[in-house]
Amino acid sequence: MILILAPDTRTDSAEFRQLEESLGRMPNVRHRIHQETGEQQLLTEVYLIGDTASLPMEDISNLPAVERVVRISEEYRVLGRHKDNDRATHFEYNGVRFGQDNLNLFAGLCAVNTPEHVEIMMRALQEHGQVCTRMGAYKPRTNPYSFQGHGKDCLPYVFELAGKYGIKVIAMEITHEMHVREIREALALTGNPTGVMLQIGTRNTQNFELLKYVGRQREFPVLLKRGFGITLEESLNAAEYLASEGNRNVVFGLRGMKTNMGEPHRNFVDFAHVPVVKRLTRMPVCIDPSHSVGTRDRAPDGLLDVMHVTAQGVIAGANMILVDFHPEPEKALVDGPQALTLDELPWFLDDIRIAREAYEKRQELASQFQ
Ligand code: PEP
Ligand code: MN
Repeated sequence: MILILAPDTRTDSAEFRQLEESLGRMPNVRHRIHQETGEQQLLTEVYLIGDTASLPMEDISNLPAVERVVRISEEYRVLGRHKDNDRATHFEYNGVRFGQDNLNLFAGLCAVNTPEHVEIMMRALQEHGQVCTRMGAYKPRTNPYSFQGHGKDCLPYVFELAGKYGIKVIAMEITHEMHVREIREALALTGNPTGVMLQIGTRNTQNFELLKYVGRQREFPVLLKRGFGITLEESLNAAEYLASEGNRNVVFGLRGMKTNMGEPHRNFVDFAHVPVVKRLTRMPVCIDPSHSVGTRDRAPDGLLDVMHVTAQGVIAGANMILVDFHPEPEKALVDGPQALTLDELPWFLDDIRIAREAYEKRQELASQFQ
């Protein structure tokens, strides 16, 4: 059960103390407080855990400071929708809105290789009005002898260049809690010129200790990729680990499933699950067409497979696109064969715009039949 308190209820107010006293008298019920400081107001939610099934909704609604009560099912307690459409399905980070109702593009390097390539990429993004990018510093690789990413050494120039080109959020994979500390330190060293969205990759979707660590910090939002070989429910529960520890600024990423049935693509594209994740949870949904498709193959109609699947995700309501680009894919240290080139950026942007407009028209049409 979730108690949504009146906006701006402070934990040192008399009303809040009375509420806590009443909750303290309930047998076998524990509570946990979650506060979110928005631009306009302070939002407080109180999660009741334990024997809540027999608590009468009306009595709980009448407790001091309580504005609304939501009964929750067992699944995805914090991030789930629970038949309640009034709780937020968006968050803001570093001036960028991430919501189930909008779309952000994170085009960039799968792995950082040189400062020159980072700069060329970011300049191109700025020229096209983009404020987000992807930049891999820590690369989990299948083969221990493959390039593992430049790690913390590249962070200062990546962050400085981001500041120079007006990039507000960089999606960056981390595989260990040490990486979060290194990112924080490099941001401080360079004067916090940009923001970072911590990416937890498909190989770590169920790394519960990492999820708990990342969930306990609330400075950085998180992009959690779906596990490539587990059920959707298991991956959504992994997202709930982050939220249950306190960080609910989570974007859920679809990136395809590992099975030979998907061939000739690298993974079996699962973007039909975009609306499903939006129905089950309040998370914005990201699609990764690059790691799903894994090639630059082109269909007879002239479109690259990567563009086809991007459009499929966007027309189904995706909220974020994470996509590999590279100024010189043949020189990329990781995943060059799937990267789009910079002269394809305006084409890709226009193609996305067409798909997004079509999605908005479909939504408008659906509203006439409700
Ligand atoms: C990536 O985005 O660079 C990546 C490795 O993705 P995934 O975890 O989905 O394989
Ligand atoms: Mn990659």
